[in-house]
Amino acid sequence: MSGYFSDLYQGTKSLLVGLGVTFREMLRPTVTVHYPRESLTITPNFRGHIELVPDDETGATRCITCGMCAKACPSACITVRSEKPEGSKKKVLTGFELDFTRCSLCGICVESCPADAIAYSQDYRLAGFSREDFHMDLLLRLGKGGHS
Ligand code: SF4
Ligand code: SF4
Repeated sequence: MSGYFSDLYQGTKSLLVGLGVTFREMLRPTVTVHYPRESLTITPNFRGHIELVPDDETGATRCITCGMCAKACPSACITVRSEKPEGSKKKVLTGFELDFTRCSLCGICVESCPADAIAYSQDYRLAGFSREDFHMDLLLRLGKGGHS
């Protein structure tokens, strides 16, 4: 019989301690958000995957297709494609692919670009079902207003 009352006492005490924690936390300021319905404001220093930076006036890419970023990348995750249109002296960018599965976010590509044409995005909402979901066409993303 004494075991019964001991269990009852322990159970009640445990319940009250638990409720105490619950009520104490209810009164504290909320420090979490209901992701993905709510999202946090990301610090400007956040390093997301790289993005092509648009020209302020034209909105087109600033990339001059020099290939320095691809050469400098230690993980070989950048592929720059370009072609020279007939009658033109300059090459134009036709593709800029990033294999984000290999990127270490080291920033060497951003630092090596002579045209300030790449920067870190603030895109932290990345999820995918396959590795191919992280093979990004940055030129296509620029066209869709992907830079943030
Ligand atoms: S951040 Fe580093 S690893 Fe990622 S693409 Fe740039 S150079 Fe390559
Ligand atoms: S280093 Fe800059 S300008 Fe040169 S290919 Fe890369 S993004 Fe374009």
